[in-house]
Amino acid sequence: MSNHLFDAFRSRMPAPGRLLMETDDGRSLTYGDMLARSAQLAHALLQMDVAPGDRVAVQVEKSPEMVLLYLACLRAGAVFLPLNTAYTLAELGYFFGDAAPRVIVCDPARSADIRGMVEPSGAVVVTLDRSGQGSLADQASRQSSEFHDVERGADDLAAILYTSGTTGRSKGAMLSHENLASNARVLLEQWRFSRDDVLIHALPIFHTHGLFVATNVTLMAGASMLFEQKFDASRIVSLLPRATALMGVPTFYTRLLQQDGLDREAAKNIRLFVSGSAPLLAETHNAWRERTGHAILERYGMTETNMNTSNPYEGERRAGTVGFPLPGVSLRIADPDSGKPLALGEVGMIEVKGPNVFGGYWRMPEKTKAEFRADGFFITGDLGMIDADGYVHIVGRGKDLIISGGYNVYPKELESEIDALDGVLESAVIGLAHPDFGEGVTAVVVRSPASRISAAEILDAVTGRMAKYKHPKRVIFVDDLPRNTMGKVQKNLLRDSYKDLYV
Ligand code: ATP
Ligand code: MG
Repeated sequence: MSNHLFDAFRSRMPAPGRLLMETDDGRSLTYGDMLARSAQLAHALLQMDVAPGDRVAVQVEKSPEMVLLYLACLRAGAVFLPLNTAYTLAELGYFFGDAAPRVIVCDPARSADIRGMVEPSGAVVVTLDRSGQGSLADQASRQSSEFHDVERGADDLAAILYTSGTTGRSKGAMLSHENLASNARVLLEQWRFSRDDVLIHALPIFHTHGLFVATNVTLMAGASMLFEQKFDASRIVSLLPRATALMGVPTFYTRLLQQDGLDREAAKNIRLFVSGSAPLLAETHNAWRERTGHAILERYGMTETNMNTSNPYEGERRAGTVGFPLPGVSLRIADPDSGKPLALGEVGMIEVKGPNVFGGYWRMPEKTKAEFRADGFFITGDLGMIDADGYVHIVGRGKDLIISGGYNVYPKELESEIDALDGVLESAVIGLAHPDFGEGVTAVVVRSPASRISAAEILDAVTGRMAKYKHPKRVIFVDDLPRNTMGKVQKNLLRDSYKDLYV
């Protein structure tokens, strides 16, 4: 029987004795173990009456068993639905209500509360802790390690992944077997992954970056991972000599740069550093190149689309850009309102189409309809432009665009100017309700350690370099920018905190 995504992994699997992952607490898992243990978990799911298309919601700490559970869901024909470990019980209530899972897998510490909460729905609640123990593991251990995979085609649902909730309430993106398979195949080729690769995996696995980009590419390549429970900069530096690749969010790279041990010698076995999920500052890119001799490869994707663009493996990796559309992905820049395609170099809405793009938001037909053009292009919500050499630049999210006195102000343009000043570590430019201008351009700035740069100095620096309507009306200094677990700056929180600044 055929099972679209799992078959793709299986057909490229190396010898069963080859290592799939090694954990920071000294456990290791081979490809043979992966086959046997995902089979046992798949049996356990069927025993809980999971039918094809049923959702299996999972909120557990990162562990190899969570990866095995993802694979078991594929094999059993279920829909894997991971949830951010930071979600509170109240938040989980929303997700369980929305997704109506057949099975909920949670940490033992939460099982009583969750059972009470979902009792009327009839969902089965089982447990898995960070060391891979719990009632699910117990049940699986009694099962056969052979399993006939449930038939699943290219268009069948493999996962529902909730977006990060950076701009509002998270939405469940419905991802098919082929959405995931096609993207893993393309990335594997673009980034030259092979069985000889050893990837440092320190990302969470409830998000597309750690789950689909990192894990699917590893499985598709038959490669192996150093599987870290969480990101610890000094430990990552010590692992570099044993690895060939690292995938991270920009904050990984800024924190690694603070480690004295990070140098060319430490990074000499690595062939690829990848960054994504949030914009990588050109400054970080340059500092990294100076310290390690490596140009970080930045790529762009989202929960709904998997990866859309990537800087080239061979050829110039251009700082501040996200590279070229991946093979098979059509990307255009359109007028946000009319959807009319814009000329090269003009800033507009990034729209994409391809086998990577999801089928729609779970139980949100209206929202889904609103986010697709009639010709099938998905409206990403990100603003960008394509330069003369074909590199895609992201200038920010549509929701963060500031309209001040009738003029469009793209926050990134001003942020780049401010970030480049001596004494500034980073900045976030936001629009706040303003009685005269509609929105007032406001710069929230983090100074470098020991810097005493003033608001007047920042204003002076941008005056003369940028049109007046783009100048910040106010500069606010803070110790840190609010970020979520994926390192994304939460501008909505900033807008909330300062909403009364001008009114
Ligand atoms: P929500 O949709 O719930 O508001 P989110 O968009 O942050 O949250 P994700 O799907 O995790 O949820 O993130 C996708 C977004 O991350 C993209 O739309 C884009 O804004 C941003 N992003 C990803 N990679 C990059 C990158 N290399 N440079 C700039 N932005 C990026
Ligand atoms: Mg989004």
